[in-house]
Amino acid sequence: MKKFLILVVLLVICQTSFCWGFYAHQKINYYAVFLLPPQMLLFYKQNIQFISEHAIDPDKRRYAVAEEGPRHYIDIDKYGKYPYDSLPRRWDSAVVKFGEDTLNAHGIVPWWLQVMKASLTKAFKEKNTARILKLSAEIGHYLADAHVPLHASSNHDGQHTGQKGIHGFWESRIPELLAEKEWSFFIGKAEYIKNTPDFIWKRVLESAAAADTVLKFEKALSLKFSPDLRFAFEDRNGVVQRQYSSAYAKAYNDGLNGMIERRMRQSIFAVASFWYTAWVDAGQPDLSTLSNKTFTEEELGEFEALNKAWRSNEMKGRKETPGP
Ligand SMILES: [Zn+2]
Repeated sequence: MKKFLILVVLLVICQTSFCWGFYAHQKINYYAVFLLPPQMLLFYKQNIQFISEHAIDPDKRRYAVAEEGPRHYIDIDKYGKYPYDSLPRRWDSAVVKFGEDTLNAHGIVPWWLQVMKASLTKAFKEKNTARILKLSAEIGHYLADAHVPLHASSNHDGQHTGQKGIHGFWESRIPELLAEKEWSFFIGKAEYIKNTPDFIWKRVLESAAAADTVLKFEKALSLKFSPDLRFAFEDRNGVVQRQYSSAYAKAYNDGLNGMIERRMRQSIFAVASFWYTAWVDAGQPDLSTLSNKTFTEEELGEFEALNKAWRSNEMKGRKETPGP
């Protein structure tokens, strides 16, 4: 019993410290499937469970591989002021100017997404079912992260402004509380993205521009709520724990004027559009002829290793605090 309780506590701690939270990442990949054109829809629907479940693999990998962390964010404010023109948008030019170590230290999500897009296109060309599924699930994760304002700020968990926990508040607590009940995920169709680097940088700059609002509004709101109203023991995934209260979460969400719902919807659109664009760029292979997915021993081993590393609860690189 004691062991069981320890496990529950560990799981709760783990689940509160991820980008977009496990919940939102899985929903984003899930809903993205329904934006696809008919030639892709059947294949993705047949594999919707895999694509949703594995949306969180990149976060698990942060527990296994040190290089993983920087792929999820960019502390773009380290490069001056909006729109950060001093930072070359091309990787090779950015490396020449700042060096790889600096770029990695501040996060590389805009460039990593381009690597992922190329890998997914290749997998489509090769009609490699297992790779298509794995990379679709994972690019969905990084795209969603790029839409989160605090993934484009060095004050990523409010650690510089006495707001520790705001990261999980924005991207886990609020979506878990409101997405199912109050938000709409009826989004329309995936679109072909002509210039993927340009698309990614636009989303990242939007995130960066919104980070200030995310932080400032919470700071102002916190002054209106005494700590006993800000935090409460409430249910989370069947476990009662101390967290931001529903009332505080709702007030914050209202003040942000639909920002979190909007960014989640934009993430879903981006994910579907990247899958679609990779498929078109690969020459629109016939997905109905793809064989059942068969993962190699190595790939199966990696899934297992990710789960094991994640359960160890030792994140490599920087981390967010698990809330209050
Ligand atoms: Zn992430």
